[in-house]
Amino acid sequence: MTHPLRLGKLEALMLDIDGVLLTDGEPISGAVRSTHALLELGIDLRFVTNTTAVPRARLLARLRDLGFPVSPHTLFTVAALARRMFEREHRTRYRLLGPPGLEADLGDGRIELHDPSTPDWVVMGLHPPVFQHDSLNIGLRDLLRGARLVALHANRVWRTRRGMELGLGAYVRALEYASRTEAKVMGKPSRAFFQEVIDDLNLPLESVAMVGDDTESDVAGALNAGIHGIQVKTGKYTDRSLALSGTKPSLVVEDINDLATRLEAARH
Ligand SMILES: [Mg+2]
Repeated sequence: MTHPLRLGKLEALMLDIDGVLLTDGEPISGAVRSTHALLELGIDLRFVTNTTAVPRARLLARLRDLGFPVSPHTLFTVAALARRMFEREHRTRYRLLGPPGLEADLGDGRIELHDPSTPDWVVMGLHPPVFQHDSLNIGLRDLLRGARLVALHANRVWRTRRGMELGLGAYVRALEYASRTEAKVMGKPSRAFFQEVIDDLNLPLESVAMVGDDTESDVAGALNAGIHGIQVKTGKYTDRSLALSGTKPSLVVEDINDLATRLEAARH
């Protein structure tokens, strides 16, 4: 992104969910009100998440129950993108090393964990209970027989009530290393995921920004896709993670509420 960010010119925001709107499934204080305030300023919102913990329909219902102004057309998740890739390549059989229920988004081609046949894809979503030595070995053998590795995202860490925990990316790297293959990463910061939302918005790139707590996935991914990247200091943000990333966000704000306040001021 070569254009400087001018808040008064922003027409659309892509909002990350975990760490920007929610922490551990609960709304960050003021976040519901602030998303409504952004809409009232005439800003188009898209909800763009790497999360694979729950199927898309359940996430949509949960966000609506909490009061967020989200609809089926404005929520973008990664599993749906993976499914479109499977269908495009006419290879739809996958083994899921990830949360149960995700087949609702990934399609009918799932083969069970202990089914001896070789899938087209080994799909990894964040679900720590499945990341055990024996189940990872099942995925490894699939890869050694020619299956391709699909990482729904490759986040390094995530933040829970207990503190930072190993992200999906750590497990993906383990299988890449052992199998000498490279995963296809579907979620942020992959350009394909950003591009899908950019195409949907159909606005000039300089009028769009991604708002996220993950500097690599959200902010650097956005900048790479040609839009602005706004860093919030909630969620998994730390001064250290920003410094280590080597990324310069278009703007750093305290939280989504701070951003809404600044945008309101910029419009008056
Ligand atoms: Mg996040």
